[in-house]
Amino acid sequence: MTAGAPAACVIGWPVAHSRSPLIHRYWLETHGIAGDYRHEAVAPEDFASFLADLGARGYVGANVTIPHKEAALALSEPDDHACSIGAANTLWLDHGRLRSTNTDVEGFIDNLDASTPGWDRGLAKAVVLGAGGSALAVVDGLVRRGIPQVQVANRTSERAEAVRDRFGTAVQVARWDELDAVLSGAGLLVNTTSLGMAGGPGLAVDLGLLRPDAVVADLVYVPLETALLAQAKVRGLRVADGLGMLLYQAVRGFSLWFGVKPAVTAELRALVERDLAGN
Ligand code: NAP
Repeated sequence: MTAGAPAACVIGWPVAHSRSPLIHRYWLETHGIAGDYRHEAVAPEDFASFLADLGARGYVGANVTIPHKEAALALSEPDDHACSIGAANTLWLDHGRLRSTNTDVEGFIDNLDASTPGWDRGLAKAVVLGAGGSALAVVDGLVRRGIPQVQVANRTSERAEAVRDRFGTAVQVARWDELDAVLSGAGLLVNTTSLGMAGGPGLAVDLGLLRPDAVVADLVYVPLETALLAQAKVRGLRVADGLGMLLYQAVRGFSLWFGVKPAVTAELRALVERDLAGN
């Protein structure tokens, strides 16, 4: 790296699994920017002092991953997106002020727009499975887009109720043990649970109950094509995968740190796909 060139990092505990360096280094190279992007493994008890020294460490900003997203919100000046989700995943120094946002919302929506254009045209009912951190971003995005009915079903119903209480009347709690009734007539299904991840339990849903023109999105990206997405394709439904969201959520951070809005290209996608396949 050139001395004085801008650098950013991803802060987590653990953090080695993060693909963010691969994505941002690809964009740095593509745009001929003499910057850098690194992993930073920071324990929870060291997070506040790490952030306090972010600029002194040579960073213009950072991504934040588990378990630091809530602390990042509390220790920075969050924007509207980070506040409505209650967690920040992107930080940047703005004339000495540490500001933050959450880019999972735009990552989810931009990926849907790119992968399944027109997905929201006439969409009356969306179903979101799960009520964890990523579900908050998905529901926020759907509500902001004006989807009139967003039904949230979660194994632990109290968490679904908390999502509803956060986002208001467009959001309704649906029963996890009555998914057939919930899915019936839905035009969008989004899996935000960890079900379907490689090596873990699967997600059993009957996609035949969805509208024939429905879109199915899965946030899980290991495997790249989950059983849910494979089943949707067999039925002729359009799909948006978790890798797409991962790539689109990275765009804003790069723009903020390095001053160029990068593109999510087929070449970048193939690069990350190869990396995922190797692990
Ligand atoms: P999280 O906050 O830990 O939430 C996990 C969710 O999965 C909860 O709703 C949980 O239900 C549910 N769940 C877990 N095991 C279950 C089981 N056996 N049966 C039913 N439900 C179960 O995690 P998260 O941050 O939201 O992440 C969820 C998934 O999204 C992960 O696979 C993650 O890798 C992926 N993700 C992808 C992106 C992307 O850019 N593509 C971004 C963020 C997350 P309970 O509340 O009942 O425990």
